[in-house]
Amino acid sequence: MTELPNPTTHESWMDDAACLYTDPEIFFTDLHTNNALKICATCDTKIACLNYATRNNITEGIFGGVTAEQREEQKGVRYG
Ligand code: SF4
Repeated sequence: MTELPNPTTHESWMDDAACLYTDPEIFFTDLHTNNALKICATCDTKIACLNYATRNNITEGIFGGVTAEQREEQKGVRYG
């Protein structure tokens, strides 16, 4: 089983994650990207999850329905 990179303290939103009982491995291998994104699409904590990845500079895996490559592309982009 894959360990989350840069593990930090538990945050309350994680208790409501759609992936709570899913093997985290699928969020960290290209082989399962589509399955992981389908789970994220149903998740009520997408924004908190994406913020978590951004705040902790996590450079691997899918968080908030966004791949690591997409997060890297969005770095420095400002909206509004
Ligand atoms: S957005 Fe995806 S990776 Fe993040 S908590 Fe929800 S299901 Fe898990």
